[in-house]
Parts: sequence; structure tokens; C-alpha cells
Amino acid sequence: MTTPDAGIPASVSDPVHAAGAILAREAARFAGLGWMRGTSGNLSVVLSRDPLRLAVTASGLDKGELATDDLVVVDATGTPVPEAASTPPRRPSAEAGLHARVVALTGAGAVFHVHTLAAVRAGKRWPAGIELRDLEMLKGIGRSAHDETVTIPVIDNSQDMTELGDRLEAALVPGVPAVVVASHGMYVWGETPIQARHHVEIVEWLLEYRMAED
Ligand SMILES: [Zn+2]
Repeated sequence: MTTPDAGIPASVSDPVHAAGAILAREAARFAGLGWMRGTSGNLSVVLSRDPLRLAVTASGLDKGELATDDLVVVDATGTPVPEAASTPPRRPSAEAGLHARVVALTGAGAVFHVHTLAAVRAGKRWPAGIELRDLEMLKGIGRSAHDETVTIPVIDNSQDMTELGDRLEAALVPGVPAVVVASHGMYVWGETPIQARHHVEIVEWLLEYRMAED
């Protein structure tokens, strides 16, 4: 397994705990912003691609207080990998399979899922997709700040991760690293955990702006 890049503490040597340190750091940041309230949301980073292995935040834990071992290693279906079983045992989020699907579809190195108020409200207001244009902040997700309409896709929610994954695959917009799930939240990704974090922050800003505009 390769070590995920971006700001791993020097004291953390093995790749799984290095990933755990990144997940804990990013979750604490989002919790501080009010974007992972209670135990909501889940974050993942890619450990290896062949076979696909993801480190995903464990289910049911306060995202502001994660430790480096509060994660589960899952495969391409979101199923925990036995050889990486943690002590004490942790459960992966039910949404781990969707993280793996996003990685397979987009080649992302990290997938962050948060339940922000702006994502839920924007998904409700624009169920066919959230259109944005002529905003400097669009450059933060790799798009043009002028003369281009950028659509953040919106999909209906489901408790069936295969169904939700099918909807996500059908709705993906090339070059837009985000999908809003109606009445739920958003999935955002990047090549690295730091880029995924920046994309979350930029998309959240865009959604807040759009909601305030109308
Ligand atoms: Zn969720």
C-alpha cells in the first residue's frame, strides 16, 4: 500500500494509521465548521488501487474527536477487509461502498461526504442541478470564472448504496468534483486529501452563495 500524501505527522509510519491521521484531521476541521454535526458524514482516502483499498472513517463516532485508529479499511464494494481488522472492531459507514464507487469512477484519491445545510437546501431548490457562472470561486474547482455555466449535479437520496451509486454515475458532470444528494448532503472528491478539502470548501461556498442570491 502506498502512503497517502499531504501532511502526515512524522511520528505516524504505517500507511493505515497515516491515513487515519489525515481522516481525523480533516474530520475535526469539518466538524469545527459545523459540516459534520453529531456523527454525520464520512471521509475516505485511497490506500491502494489494485486491489482497491480505502480507509474510511468508522461509523457512529463524533467526527470532531476521531483518533488515528477510528477507521475501517474496505474494498471496492465497501466491505471491511479482514486482514486490516481493527482493535476494537469498527464498523464502516453504510456509505463506504459509495466512496469506493466514486474512486472507481473518477480516479479520486480522497472522497469527502458532509451533510451541510447549504447542500440540502440547494438540492431541494434545484433538483435538476445547481447552475453557477461568472464567479471567481469556480476556479477553485478547476472551472472558468467567466462565460461558462457550471452545473453541480443533484441526485435523489436512497438508502440503497447500489442505487445511489447508479444515480451518481449517471449524473456525473466531467470536470465537476461534486454531487449533491437531495435531502442529504454532498459528495466531493479530489486527487489528494488536501485537494478534496479545498473542493469541499469551495463547493460549500458556491452553494451558500447561490442560496443567498435567490
Ligand atoms: Zn450521509
